[in-house]
Amino acid sequence: MYRGYYSPAEWEQIVDFSATKETPFLIILLDRVARRFQEFRRDFPSAKIYYAVKASPGEEILTLLRDLGSYFDIASIYELDRVLYLGVSPDRVSFGNTIKKARHIREAYDKGVRLFATDSEADVRTLAREAPGSRVFFRLLMDAVTSDSDWPLSRKFGCQPRMLMELVSLAADLGLDPYGISFHVGSQQREIPAWDAAIAQVRHLFEWLEKERIPLKAMNMGGGFPADYLIKSNPLSVYAEEINRYLHMHFGDAIPEIYLEPGRGLTGEAGILVSEVVLISKKSRTDLKRWVYTDVGIFNGLMETIDESIKYPAYTEKGGETGDVILAGPTCDSLDIIYEHFKYQLPLSLEIGDRIYWLSTGAYTASYSSIEFNGFPPLKTYYL
Ligand SMILES: *Cc1c(COP(=O)(O)O)cnc(C)c1O
Repeated sequence: MYRGYYSPAEWEQIVDFSATKETPFLIILLDRVARRFQEFRRDFPSAKIYYAVKASPGEEILTLLRDLGSYFDIASIYELDRVLYLGVSPDRVSFGNTIKKARHIREAYDKGVRLFATDSEADVRTLAREAPGSRVFFRLLMDAVTSDSDWPLSRKFGCQPRMLMELVSLAADLGLDPYGISFHVGSQQREIPAWDAAIAQVRHLFEWLEKERIPLKAMNMGGGFPADYLIKSNPLSVYAEEINRYLHMHFGDAIPEIYLEPGRGLTGEAGILVSEVVLISKKSRTDLKRWVYTDVGIFNGLMETIDESIKYPAYTEKGGETGDVILAGPTCDSLDIIYEHFKYQLPLSLEIGDRIYWLSTGAYTASYSSIEFNGFPPLKTYYL
């Protein structure tokens, strides 16, 4: 079952490395991250690629992407310090979180960051005061399309087009540099036409703003590029082909500068979370389902299985006939059930102590792990 996700050579490397280590831990295959970064470059040749650090913020990944010439999108000044510490110059960083304290904006500005995203009047005023003259992206609300994604970032971010126009004028009046419009179509977006709708909206806004004599230069198309989970997605090249077509369709020869902020799409498939079965039980003698408890769960790596949103492929080396299971984590919290309604099948021969490998777990896993819930340590990560 790992086939179709990892090559036999990669799998051998993963199993060999894991053999003597106590679970749970995450393995990141750095080659995979590098390869995917090169694919983004090849498929979107004129785009600037800002890695969304929050997806997988390990130093090894940041160093690799630094050396490949990536830019970085940060969610906080703490992520900023991490990339600056690695020698990334602040002009390769954008502060993409629209929710930030005035003193953090000032600190980022003092450290050299000159590119910010915003979606509210209060934040525009704070930016004008604490980060004068900076370039600003205005984030458009995407409530219509994010519902198709598996991990929507809707409602919380962006503003309506009318308000966006007002914010652009306000920013210009206050001496900021209104630079472009940004959007995020929702994380793990499997419907490529979501970008079509978003790009069309941005095109309209560009036209209106040109009439107001505030021409913008750039469009930030965010993240949303998928990783292959139990449900597979189109390859990146197909996304790129379609999205590049939408760009030509809507902008003709006047395509603005393009920014991308992939997180999951860059690192998701690079990770394998290795766990062990702690307990297998039934609730009665006649129960048809087995409960399989593993040493990972919602609180130490599999946070995105909340509401069973992301369905990771789970692989065991046991074979034979399979049956329904409910998968749950090790903590004393009933929220810590991984999959119950979605029927996972695992071999009937599965035993306590067997390993379960969770595939495509390179994004939003280790960084989401709690630091000591129930006394369990945070998830360890090894980089190969
Ligand atoms: C989280 C985030 C991203 C990354 O999204 P993915 O779906 O993981 O690619 C990009 N941009 C912003 C502003 C984000 O908050």
